[in-house]
Amino acid sequence: MSDSRTASVIALSGGIGGAKLALGLCKVLPPGGLTVIVNTADDFDHLGLRICPDIDTVLYTLAGLANPTLGWGRRDETWSFMQALESLGGETWFRLGDRDLALHVERTRRLHVGDSLTAFTADVARRWRVRAQVLPMSDDPVRTRIVTAEGELAFQDYFVRRRCAPPLRAVKFHGAPEARVAPQVQDALRPGQTSPPRAIIICPSNPYLSVDPILALPGMRALLRAAGAPVIAVTPLIGGEAVKGPTAKIMRELGLPPSPLTIANHYAGLIDGFVLDERDADLAGSLDLSLRVTNTLMSSLEDRERLAREVLQFADALARPRRSPA
Ligand code: GDP
Repeated sequence: MSDSRTASVIALSGGIGGAKLALGLCKVLPPGGLTVIVNTADDFDHLGLRICPDIDTVLYTLAGLANPTLGWGRRDETWSFMQALESLGGETWFRLGDRDLALHVERTRRLHVGDSLTAFTADVARRWRVRAQVLPMSDDPVRTRIVTAEGELAFQDYFVRRRCAPPLRAVKFHGAPEARVAPQVQDALRPGQTSPPRAIIICPSNPYLSVDPILALPGMRALLRAAGAPVIAVTPLIGGEAVKGPTAKIMRELGLPPSPLTIANHYAGLIDGFVLDERDADLAGSLDLSLRVTNTLMSSLEDRERLAREVLQFADALARPRRSPA
């Protein structure tokens, strides 16, 4: 059953972890009630194509086209292109399925004829009947670079080609200081005549690789704070470990305790509330922040919807004291 309130909910997302909660939110909110602001700093040019892994994961997930086995890419995928490329001695370290390839080819064409990434993404979302607005954080190039013990690597070289093996020393976001928050993102956060957003939710994405690039855009933090909605982060760590991916590994390499407390502190000054997993309930007393403790593991669609509802209830509870005069 969908939640009938009209004020929009804004989610900040990377790829797989973020898209899981975005799907839950999309299912429980009315059509058009969700806007997802997506990291684009993982984007890269490969085989002459522009590839936007986080946007594609969010689009595929919200459109019901995501590959349930791999966790990335499209369902019902075939790999003829990759096999043919391999037979030619081409680069096959970044796997592109046949159906997935169409998205990258068409996006590259549209960018070449002058369309923005925002416009192309909106067009795909419309064609695939996605019930949410999916917004790239910026139309300008921001590119994550990973400083490792073995030197500096482009993000996908580190993440996919090297499978996050080289110990990470620092993360840089090239282009971020010059990049502009996409105008549609600014509009979503500065709604003008309409009511402020109901909630801003930082999905359980990797804070250092997926959320920080969004927050690194000039003016983004100020826009989020000024939007007039409670800002809530959902833990991407359960019991000191990531559900998937290198979040805990890179925290250890950065000398940070891999704990949800570290993540909550990382977002200090930005968030009004934090959603902690029930397996970490013993940490609740150590956080000087409004908390909701619940099961944050999203295995099924029901889990995603239940967590989405709980996060929205939490946001509404946090919003109430702000909106009523003292
Ligand atoms: P990526 O861009 O594909 O690496 O994905 P994200 O950055 O969006 O998400 C990675 C993070 O999602 C990791 O820290 C995971 O622990 C977290 N994550 C994945 N699934 C879940 C889940 O079901 N619950 C919670 N709480 N976190 C999750």
